[in-house]
Amino acid sequence: MTGKGPEHVLDRLKRPLRDLRISVTDKCNFRCRYCMPEEIFGPDYPFLPQEKLLTFEEMTRLVRIFASLGVKKIRITGGEPLLRRELPTLIGMIRKLEGIEDIALTTNGSLLPKFATQLKAAGLNRVTVSLDSLDDERFGKINGRGFKVRDVLKGIEAAEEAGLGIKINMVVQRGVNDQDILPMARYFREKGHILRFIEFMDVGNSNGWRLEHVVPSREIVKMINTEMPIEPVDPNYYGEVASRYRYKGTDTEIGFISSVTEAFCSTCTRARLSAEGALYTCLFATAGTDLRTPLRQGETDEQLKKRIVDVWHKRKDRYSEERLQNTNALKRKKVEMYHIGG
Ligand code: SAM
Ligand code: SF4
Ligand code: SF4
Repeated sequence: MTGKGPEHVLDRLKRPLRDLRISVTDKCNFRCRYCMPEEIFGPDYPFLPQEKLLTFEEMTRLVRIFASLGVKKIRITGGEPLLRRELPTLIGMIRKLEGIEDIALTTNGSLLPKFATQLKAAGLNRVTVSLDSLDDERFGKINGRGFKVRDVLKGIEAAEEAGLGIKINMVVQRGVNDQDILPMARYFREKGHILRFIEFMDVGNSNGWRLEHVVPSREIVKMINTEMPIEPVDPNYYGEVASRYRYKGTDTEIGFISSVTEAFCSTCTRARLSAEGALYTCLFATAGTDLRTPLRQGETDEQLKKRIVDVWHKRKDRYSEERLQNTNALKRKKVEMYHIGG
C-alpha cells in the first residue's frame, strides 16, 4: 500500500470517500437530552465492555487502510472522546500515517484543560467544542449533569493556549436555547472563534425530535444579520457541511449547518467507524458493517480493504434529502448518535 498514491472509490451517487469519523468510546460524562437522555442512559445502562472496543492498534490499522482509499481527514468523536484513556497516544499513532492531512476532535470541552497540551503535542490540529448556551441554568439542564458554562469555556481557553484550531458548535432547539443565539454570536465574535449553529436533528430513536423544534438556519442568519451584518464566504472545499459567513469588516467567521432544512447529502464524503468497529455510511444508518470480527480473525489488509471498498461501492444513503421529501423516512430505526459520533 505504500509507494503509489491512494485509490479513489466512489459510491453509487459518485461521492468519493474522503473523511473518517471515529467514535473512540460510547461513554460520556454529560447527558445531553438530545443525545443521551438520563432516563435511558442511567446508571444501569450497558455500555460497551473494554474488550469490544477497538484498540488503538486496530483503529490505526484501519485508518491506514482508509488512507490508502483516499481518506485525508480524521475526526475523533464519541461519546466523549476524552474519556478514552490515553487518547493522545492514538492521535500520535494516526499522525504518523501517510496521507492523513488533518486530525480533529469533537468534544464537550470539559476535559480539555487536562488534555489540550498533550493533544497538540501528539499532532492534533483542531478541536470542535460543543456549547449550547452561555446561561448556567439552561446549560446545566441541556447537559443533564449540571456542568457550568465556565467548565467548557476553560476548555476552550486551554485549547487556545495549546495552539489548537477552534470551532464552537451550538445545537439550536426552539423553546430550549433559541434565546442564546445572539449572546453566543456576540461572545464568540468578540473572541474571534468560529461559531457554527447546527439544526437539531432526529438522530437515534430516543431524543423526542419534532420538526417544530428545529430553528431553520435561514431564520438564524436573519436574526444575526439584523444586529451584526454578515456576508457569505465561499466554501473551502468540496463537501464542506457548513455555509460560511463573515461578520462584515472583520475576518471572523460564523457557520450554519442546515442538516434538516438544506440537506447536503449530494456531497457527503464521510464514513463512520463506531467504537466497536462497525462501519457506517450515514449518520442515520440502521446498521453497520462489522470490521472488528474479520480484523481479529486475522484478515490481511487487502481483505479488509476489499470489505471497505464493497461497502462504499454499495452506498446510496441520502437520508436528510429523503426526509425533506418524505417524512415517512423518519419512521425507521436508526443507530444512536453516541455510538457513531456526530
Ligand atoms: N461528546 C462530544 C461533543 O458533545 O462534542 C462528541 C460527540 S457528540 C455526539 C458530537 C456532536 O453532535 C456535538 O456537537 C453534539 O452537540 C451533536 N449532536 C448530538 N445530538 C444532536 C442532535 N440531535 N442534533 C444535532 N446535533 C447533535
Ligand atoms: Fe455526550 Fe456529546 Fe452526546 Fe452531549 S452530545 S451527551 S456531550 S456525546
Ligand atoms: Fe451524509 Fe447521511 Fe447526513 Fe446525508 S444524511 S449528509 S448521507 S450522513
